[in-house]
Amino acid sequence: MAARELTTKKLEKYEEILIRERNQTQKIIKGIDEIQKRGSKDRSGDLSSYSVHQADMGTDTDEAEKRVYLLNKELEKIKKINLALKRIYEKSYGVCEICGETIPDKRLNIVPYAKYCISCKSKEEMKTRRRR
Ligand SMILES: [Zn+2]
Repeated sequence: MAARELTTKKLEKYEEILIRERNQTQKIIKGIDEIQKRGSKDRSGDLSSYSVHQADMGTDTDEAEKRVYLLNKELEKIKKINLALKRIYEKSYGVCEICGETIPDKRLNIVPYAKYCISCKSKEEMKTRRRR
């Protein structure tokens, strides 16, 4: 039993990593949000300094789409980080949700919010790919 659980020290380390990651992600989200707010102000007729960009409307739309994509990705990441933090507090962190095996540190260091071990993750990805 004990071998399966991560030590408190390790959990604290990952908690720190996750909180740092969440702060960074929140900063990115805020940044995107501010750009979008500025963008919609332009379109509603604020002619101050941005009217020059009217010729680039096409690229603006592309940029806006890219921003929405990025924003959703970052929001998704926050959700994953919050779930991982919850798992830390419940002491179920670092255990694969499918097979119950311990997720190796090597993987947690790269993806601290990982829910599955590598083999379950690749199985899940194969399923998703087939569904398309
Ligand atoms: Zn697994």
